Amino acid sequence: MFAYGPVPSRRLGKSIGVSPIPAKTCSYSCVYCQLGRTDHMQIERKSFSPKEDIFCDIEKVVNTSHADFITFAGDGEPTLCKDLGWLIENTKNVFKLPIAVITNGSLLYREDVREDLKNADVVMPTLDVGNQALFEILNRPFKTVTFEKMLQGLIDFRQDFRGQIWSEVMLVSGINDSVKELNSIKDALARTRPDRVYITTPVRPPAENWVESPDPQNILLAEEIFEKVVSITEQETGDFGVMEFSNAREAILEISARHPLRVEQALKIERKFGESGIVEQLVNQSLLDKRSYRNTVYVMPNKSRL
Ligand code: SF4
Repeated sequence: MFAYGPVPSRRLGKSIGVSPIPAKTCSYSCVYCQLGRTDHMQIERKSFSPKEDIFCDIEKVVNTSHADFITFAGDGEPTLCKDLGWLIENTKNVFKLPIAVITNGSLLYREDVREDLKNADVVMPTLDVGNQALFEILNRPFKTVTFEKMLQGLIDFRQDFRGQIWSEVMLVSGINDSVKELNSIKDALARTRPDRVYITTPVRPPAENWVESPDPQNILLAEEIFEKVVSITEQETGDFGVMEFSNAREAILEISARHPLRVEQALKIERKFGESGIVEQLVNQSLLDKRSYRNTVYVMPNKSRL
């Protein structure tokens, strides 16, 4: 399944998600990633699946739901999909909904990637750090992607792109939330000239257990140091669209693979199908794991059983 939702998004309202790449395929392995450590680390662009099949899936979800955005994101880095430009152009022409792309920005140094994104309305690149040393600690990029190469890609993209660029800075306690590091991120942001900057913090279970959210005073500090900034540090609210699923089991497994679910969100999905006991059943069968983070219990697929 390539398209899903709508899912509630803290920045995009109700968003239909599209994942044109296989699970956890990325050019980074961020310590805070909610999908766990990267299984398929690569920078080679590919057609992972027939683009017509992906488009058909988008059509099915759009036709059964109301959404504010169609968002290419998914299970890793969407610009690794060679067909992204074709998919964005056709999706936009046919469905008349704004298109967003959530990207780590690592491949924007490539002209073909910048060209592929030109028809998007909003591009949301990650910019968590201001130097190579922290880039390696926090984002753990593919070996040939350097901080300067990534940053230059963002600068070049800004020069030609006519849509909105909303940069995202994920703050992790003790890593990039000091005055020194916040100032170096500010300098990097100034060079890339985004229309908006969002500060985010880890809210779902991260790839590495030691990852913690900064103290509130450090978030305030970041707000003071950055310009045009919006902080998003709370959980998202709202329901997940489940029209494309035929039962609660399928819906919970698919949605939680992309977006770890709070237990109450998973139970709500059960109720939407008029079912009960499915979450416990999946946990007992070791198909779902329960994990606590920041006083909240989440469910997500047990990776060893996939
Ligand atoms: S957070 Fe995004 S960029 Fe980082 S590893 Fe996960 S999918 Fe890749």
